[in-house]
Amino acid sequence: MNRRIVFATNNVHKLQEIRAMIPEGIKLLSLADIGCHADIPETADTLEGNALIKARYVAEHYGMDCFADDTGLEVETLGGAPGVHTARYAGEAHDTEANIDKLLAELADKDNRKARFRTAIALIVQQEEHLFEGILEGEIAPVRRGTDGFGYDPVFIPEGTGKTFAELGSDIKNRISHRALAVNQLIEYINHELS
Ligand code: IMP
Repeated sequence: MNRRIVFATNNVHKLQEIRAMIPEGIKLLSLADIGCHADIPETADTLEGNALIKARYVAEHYGMDCFADDTGLEVETLGGAPGVHTARYAGEAHDTEANIDKLLAELADKDNRKARFRTAIALIVQQEEHLFEGILEGEIAPVRRGTDGFGYDPVFIPEGTGKTFAELGSDIKNRISHRALAVNQLIEYINHELS
C-alpha cells in the first residue's frame, strides 16, 4: 500500500517541485487534499518553530504523517532581520514590492550587504519530529534585477553567481536554492528511512 505524507501547504509550485523528487510509493497530499482549510497561525519566533506548528497541527488534527517548511531572509548587518518576519517585513499585507523597498532602504548606507536564505523543514512521522535545514549564502543587490521568480528574487544574489535569482531563472534556482538544499535532506531521509 502507498505511504501517504501530507505537505502542510497549498502552494502548488512547491507541491509540484517536491512531488517530482519523492520516491514512487509515497503519495504526497496537500492541505486541500485532506480537507484542511485552516489558516494555521505562524506565531513562533523561529523558522523551525513555525514549521513545527504547521506539521504538528496536521499530525494532531488529522493523525497523519506530515512535513512543513518555513523560509526566512537573514541579513547580516540587520542582525538577521527580517528572518522569521520575511513575508511581512513591511507589514501584514505581505506586499513583496513594499518588502523589497524597505530592505533596500535599510541597506542604502551600508557597505556590508551579506545575506542568506534559510529554509527549515519539520517532519513528523509516527509522532517523531525531525528537522532539516537549507542555507544559501549571498548578498543583497543595490537595485532590483531580473524578472523571474517571486518574493525577494530580484535582489538576492547567491554567492559566486554575480546574478540575482530573478536573473538566474528557475532551473538554476531550483537546483541551488535554500529550499532545494533542505528538501534534498528531507528526500534523503524519506528514501532511506521510509520507503
Ligand atoms: P515561505 O516560508 O516559503 O512562505 O517564505 C516566506 C517569505 O520568504 C515569502 O513570503 C517570500 O517573500 C520569501 N521567500 C521564500 N522563499 C523565497 C525564494 O526562494 N525567493 C525569494 N523570496 C523567498
